[in-house]
Amino acid sequence: MDLEKTRQNLELRGFKVSFFDTGKEAAAHIASQISGCTVGFGGSKTLEALGLFETLSENNTVYWHWKAPGKETLKAAAFADVYLSSANAVSEDGEILNIDGTGNRVAATLYGHRKVFIVAGTNKICPDFASALSRARNTAAVKNCARFGKKTPCQVDGRCHDCRSPERICHALTVLWGPMGGMETEVVLIGEDLGM
Ligand code: SF4
Repeated sequence: MDLEKTRQNLELRGFKVSFFDTGKEAAAHIASQISGCTVGFGGSKTLEALGLFETLSENNTVYWHWKAPGKETLKAAAFADVYLSSANAVSEDGEILNIDGTGNRVAATLYGHRKVFIVAGTNKICPDFASALSRARNTAAVKNCARFGKKTPCQVDGRCHDCRSPERICHALTVLWGPMGGMETEVVLIGEDLGM
């Protein structure tokens, strides 16, 4: 994993990039950037591990369907001032990959906010696009299926089969090649293993 190469390539693509050794420092940085805002969260074990819902709720109105399930929460998050998501994989070439089943998370990284934060542990960094795609499919998606108790082929052997199962959770893949027009996008990299 070449952190410096990743950072340089993300910046060349127009992303703002910050790096912290620990999740605690990263959470403090993010909290220092957001006050008096509406904030939307995507489903993310990384955001959960950093305790960001609780921290940001002190000074903002935060919408997260993991805390308040339902369509109203998803709608409010979709058009919040600021949106936070993690990534399934980040390539050293600076591409950010996410697979989604419902679409709320990937859609919100594409449109509707003043600023988006992509928060990722360095375990998400992969050498190139092919390995990043493999990570998103064969690691992140497989673990997410396990988390939801899905009876999909990947739960038999731990590999993605691009299945046609009715329980499939992989319905879309997004690759951010740069920040979307009109939305500042900051990639917060953390020197810890975080998320799936
Ligand atoms: S496409 Fe199917 S087999 Fe592949 S990770 Fe998603 S649910 Fe599992």
